[in-house]
Amino acid sequence: MDIQHYKKRLLDLEKTLSARTERALAGGREQFLDSAHDTGDASVSDVAAADDFTEAELDSTILKQVQEALDRIAGGTFGKCLVDGGPIEVKRLEAVPWAPYCLKHQALIEAAAQPERGRSGNL
Ligand SMILES: [Zn+2]
Repeated sequence: MDIQHYKKRLLDLEKTLSARTERALAGGREQFLDSAHDTGDASVSDVAAADDFTEAELDSTILKQVQEALDRIAGGTFGKCLVDGGPIEVKRLEAVPWAPYCLKHQALIEAAAQPERGRSGNL
């Protein structure tokens, strides 16, 4: 496995995501402050601010996973499933280089985290 290839991609992602997270949080704050002296459509501004925070939250979740993947590269366990230590599928790492689990365990974990949505066959 070409670790350097994934390391480069993860470092690029880390840079992009942290910049985007900071921007989104700053933008959300601005809109929130604007709505304080806006009598007309404060609720609309609040919704826009909430959207920014949600997106930033998603980015920061992925950012955390990217940083954990970089830790695993440093520790020599990158590309191994955190549950059973088995190899994570190369196709999966190409699509999601920060993936901490193999497909099987990722599916199990997602099903456990979302009991209502996980079983309806949307995948
Ligand atoms: Zn596994």
